[in-house]
Amino acid sequence: MFVDSHCHLTFAPLQSQLAEIRAAMAAAGVGAALCICTTLEEFDAVHALATGHDNFWASVGVHPDNDDVSEPSLDDLLRRAALPRVVAIGETGLDYFRLAGRSHDDMAWQRERFRIHVRAAIATGKPLVIHTRSASADTLAILREEGASNGVFHCFTETAEVARAALDLGFHISFSGILTFRTAADLKEVARWVPLDRCLIETDSPYLAPVPFRGKTNTPALVAHVGAMLAELKSLPVETVAAATSANFERLFGVEVLRPAGLAS
Ligand SMILES: [Zn+2]
Ligand SMILES: [Zn+2]
Repeated sequence: MFVDSHCHLTFAPLQSQLAEIRAAMAAAGVGAALCICTTLEEFDAVHALATGHDNFWASVGVHPDNDDVSEPSLDDLLRRAALPRVVAIGETGLDYFRLAGRSHDDMAWQRERFRIHVRAAIATGKPLVIHTRSASADTLAILREEGASNGVFHCFTETAEVARAALDLGFHISFSGILTFRTAADLKEVARWVPLDRCLIETDSPYLAPVPFRGKTNTPALVAHVGAMLAELKSLPVETVAAATSANFERLFGVEVLRPAGLAS
């Protein structure tokens, strides 16, 4: 059994395809998924997925790329994090990839928003789902300054040094369909040595479909292809990687995935 640790089922076109998505998950042996929140406006829809299905869970957070949405206060996050089936804070972090003429100083709002999320995670004991792009030094610095030690760097595309620093802080590393891309040589090298007990797998659906579906709409069922690539890179049986990444998911987020009939691990 595989688990998709990061997907956006409220995004188009997935939000109108839930029945097909769930059928494809069952057929592919994908037993559960964490539905990720990116705005407060979106939270109720994400949360409804988790309360409506016993193999979906939800996060609460505001994505660093969203600069035209409600700014979350600590209390906004804490109130939603206390609801049933909300198991993580995020996705949150820093993204300096699309600065669009803005300077580092101009992004102070992103750093402040990130700190609020880190404080919510520490106050609730729930893990952080970290998004970092072109901003790893500041991301790591803020985690250190705030004393964060629990969560996952999602859709990991950073260097070996950043992976080592994240692991040293106590974080997990989640690999997406990017791991299957022919051009991802450096990332494959990172995936070979990250300890299996700190690895998660994800789709980031509807984005980043793995090979051989690259460019198409991604869905949680395709996380099996990410798991297969991770197994190949680690020279391990795919069953071993499936079982380990699922167990890591359960341990990190404090949940128990009900094994579908016929799936042993
Ligand atoms: Zn992200
Ligand atoms: Zn995401």
